[in-house]
Amino acid sequence: MPKQYRPIAGQPVLRHTIFRFVRHPGIGQVIVVIADEDRDRAKTALAGLDVMFVTGGATRTASVRAGLDAVPDGVDLVLIHDGARPFVPAALIDAVLEGLQIADGALPVLPVADALWSGSGDHVAKPVSRDGIFRAQTPQGFRLSAIRAAYAALAPPDTELADDVAVARAAGIDVRLVPGDEENFKLTQAEDFERAERMANRGESVTGSGFDVHRLEPADHMMLCGVRIEEGLGLSGHSDADAGLHAITDALLGAIAAGDIGQHFPPSDPQWKGASSDRFLEHAVMLARDAGATLVHVDVTLICERPKIGRYRDAMRNRLGDILQLPLDRVSVKATTTEGLGFTGRGEGLAAQALVTVRR
Ligand code: MG
Repeated sequence: MPKQYRPIAGQPVLRHTIFRFVRHPGIGQVIVVIADEDRDRAKTALAGLDVMFVTGGATRTASVRAGLDAVPDGVDLVLIHDGARPFVPAALIDAVLEGLQIADGALPVLPVADALWSGSGDHVAKPVSRDGIFRAQTPQGFRLSAIRAAYAALAPPDTELADDVAVARAAGIDVRLVPGDEENFKLTQAEDFERAERMANRGESVTGSGFDVHRLEPADHMMLCGVRIEEGLGLSGHSDADAGLHAITDALLGAIAAGDIGQHFPPSDPQWKGASSDRFLEHAVMLARDAGATLVHVDVTLICERPKIGRYRDAMRNRLGDILQLPLDRVSVKATTTEGLGFTGRGEGLAAQALVTVRR
């Protein structure tokens, strides 16, 4: 799988990257240049994010050109970023935008800390001065008209240069150096993914809880954790009464302190009559994204004598993983009886409780 689509902390690399631009107040529109064969993968990876997709070309030059061509008229500044740098800090984006107030190009750079040596074969030749030497990062920022002209002036048009600053410099554009950031590293080696996993798992974890009950009644089927169960029992309620999804929805709303399911989907509102409850959970997932929260884990416990959950457990975990965009090792479905005691023991109702953890 291309590295942009490999998961870190349960989310594709590209999603981490794009999310940081989408939520930055200085960014108006994000254009994602992708290979045509990756279109489905990219759409899944970026579901729910407001981006425009553009098909790239056979070379880096052709892909950037396609992206620049798609920038809407009236835009003044454009930042060109590498999808495999998922930890670009907001302050670095600010620095590039500030650099563009002074020059037509801005390049985030880092100093070179290690001594530099030239060599040939296995032998050291001589030291190389670090004076005036920098490590280049992205996003590289430009005045749109200037970088478009620079790409138009490339001869031949498919000339491959190292990066966009190289294209800009070839056209004589003044490019300002601005401070880069060590966190804005590019995922290249296997150990980079280990570092990325550690970084993506930083931050504050918050857990919300949810609880729900619906009455059991004879019926041809019930929906539970998004799975259809045909055992002559149903759940009664205003929507499809999927107590599992309701408990998880409330837990997620709890984790982002966004009220409860009744506030977002009042039972008094006729539009939710018979509604499929995955819509409620999908809405909560969207609210969580907007709040800057990343889902980490869900654990739901279903409390009933019947149906027996075991044979539906894997289907439920798969369905929840789909809705929550979580890998299966972060989706737990458990079941218990209450030893014949209480309303669940008497088979009058089914209860569900859930915990959802997010990282903010
Ligand atoms: Mg309910």
